[in-house]
Amino acid sequence: MHAVREWLKHARSVAVLTGAGVSAESGVPTFRGNNGLWKRYRPEDLATPDAFARDPKLVWEWYDWRRSLIAQAKPNEGHYALAELEKRVPSFSLITQNVDGLHELSGSRNVLNLHGSIWKVRCTGCERESVDRQTPLPEIPPKCECGALLRPGVVWFGEALPPRIWQDAETATRSADIFLLVGTSAIVYPAAGLVQIAKASGARVVEINIAETVLSDRIDEFLQGRSGELLPQLIA
Ligand code: NAD
Ligand code: ZN
Repeated sequence: MHAVREWLKHARSVAVLTGAGVSAESGVPTFRGNNGLWKRYRPEDLATPDAFARDPKLVWEWYDWRRSLIAQAKPNEGHYALAELEKRVPSFSLITQNVDGLHELSGSRNVLNLHGSIWKVRCTGCERESVDRQTPLPEIPPKCECGALLRPGVVWFGEALPPRIWQDAETATRSADIFLLVGTSAIVYPAAGLVQIAKASGARVVEINIAETVLSDRIDEFLQGRSGELLPQLIA
């Protein structure tokens, strides 16, 4: 912990990759390490193009439920600590796999949303994208004015990441002196691949998680604990 604080004090460029764990203390459920969350389905079976093609109503019911939870959630001390860190480091990028928008709400500026936003909807017909914050949705599955089905504006398993955002994330990772990995199981690619890029580019990689992950013994420092507690300590 002491070493990491020193590194951060002198860092010129910091990149952070966050996952669902950073929002867990805000009451937003993570995908893994939790069970019995929703009916009898696993998130991995619902967040896919196939699932949506098979049963758009079921997928939208799940998203509507997640939207209702996220609508009540507030940023926690971990989100705020990252927003504060951004003010102190000359070059700072916050790459997130989360779709909840809590980083922006806590004041973070340079946020790269790798997996989109749960508040966005996109037409499967005319491809128009818009923001819809209604929850519960008045109609499930929701439809576009053109008559086609709307889909959540998120990146599903098996889909490509938005190319520009991914490029920016790679660039930020390559130039980072310190790469922080926070609250992610680090098994969803390509996001997890940023850790290898960071290492190969000579960054110090620091992980914060309540439990070890597949990457924990391949990085410079593993800090075990809740991000809402450890992140404020790191910048205190
Ligand atoms: P994940 O559910 O696979 O893993 C969560 C990780 O967070 C685990 O390693 C767990 O040990 C850790 N964790 C839990 N509570 C923590 C805490 N308080 N402090 C620190 N670490 C904690 O999540 P993932 O790696 O982000 O990947 C799953 C995918 O799920 C992502 O693509 C993301 O888009 C999506 N997702 C997003 C949200 C959200 O927006 N909040 C929530 C669930 C899932
Ligand atoms: Zn349309």
